[in-house]
Amino acid sequence: MNAPAPKPWIMGIAPYVPGRSTTDDGRTIVKLSSNENPLGTAPTAREAYRSAADDLERYPDAGAVDLRAKLAAHYGIEADRIVYGTGSDEVLHLAAGAFAGAGDEIIHVRYGFSVYEIATRRVGATPVIASDRDYATDVDAILAAVTERTRVVFVANPNNPTGTYTAKADIARLHAGLPQSVLLVLDQAYTEYLGPGDDDGGLDLARTEANVLVTRTFSKIFGLASERVGWGYGAPAIIDAMHRIRAPFAFSIGAQRAAIAALDADDFVADSRRHNDEWRAWFGDQVAGLGNAGLRVVPSKANFLLVLFEGSLTAETAYRALMAAGYATRWLPGQGLPHALRITIGRADEMRAVVDVLRAEAAKA
Ligand SMILES: *Cc1c(COP(=O)(O)O)cnc(C)c1O
Repeated sequence: MNAPAPKPWIMGIAPYVPGRSTTDDGRTIVKLSSNENPLGTAPTAREAYRSAADDLERYPDAGAVDLRAKLAAHYGIEADRIVYGTGSDEVLHLAAGAFAGAGDEIIHVRYGFSVYEIATRRVGATPVIASDRDYATDVDAILAAVTERTRVVFVANPNNPTGTYTAKADIARLHAGLPQSVLLVLDQAYTEYLGPGDDDGGLDLARTEANVLVTRTFSKIFGLASERVGWGYGAPAIIDAMHRIRAPFAFSIGAQRAAIAALDADDFVADSRRHNDEWRAWFGDQVAGLGNAGLRVVPSKANFLLVLFEGSLTAETAYRALMAAGYATRWLPGQGLPHALRITIGRADEMRAVVDVLRAEAAKA
């Protein structure tokens, strides 16, 4: 029978696999699989969101004027150089959609954010994978992968799922080595988790260079994953092109109000960063203590750790044991990481429980 035929490059997409929130038998679990904020969101953001219940019949502001003004003031950037989308996921899709198509190439690192490949294939472009350096982003490998067909380079910093950080000098070297015609997308979804000295220079590059786009999200430290608020900052010509293909009403009224309030919640953000610093260090030390069982942690500056299983205890066994104990982590065989679990830094009691399970499994293996 005849039926509509999806484009072949669409059927080449492996569907995105979200983090689990239930066990195989349907029990609710502690979710350490999606890098959400274990402290929740700022109470003021929650309140601002509730206020939107009075305006449900209204379309939201398609221009997100108040939110852009707030972002501009907060980060010292220009409101008219901000584009936005339903989560920064959509902003990444807009970047691929505005600058690449069939026959073009888009580069991302081997252990990179899975949305990059989907965004690439969706527009009919070809993903090109740059190899890593012990899980970290290898600037030289990216530069070596550039061809005359390259249109976009996606780099997350810190990177997901590895947590690794690329220093400012290396980002500058990457930019300097790229042809001016290639759009460098610096995905800073986890940038708020960095220490004060750890600016990768992305916003400055996006301010001064014609081919750099920085993307940010309210889903991680601001604790608004449900509301899908992402944005990008770059040269006017980049932003103008992306605006043409975005959905007209990217954000709900509640999303815009919650995000504006979240930007003012300095104490909540500082508490979240402090909690993350403390428990990421603690968890990393505990896992390193299981080194004789072959466990190793990739150095992370984000709100998760990638734990490598290089001995007799396998990542799959640990994943299943954690799941049975009520903790969902991210096992990523589909991303070339069958030997690793990405574990979000959760609450103190959750991290202790995860370590207890890993220790017990290591003793058995
Ligand atoms: C979580 C994440 C995002 C985006 O999330 P949204 O919820 O779509 O804003 C983007 N990039 C990376 C690397 C992420 O880990």
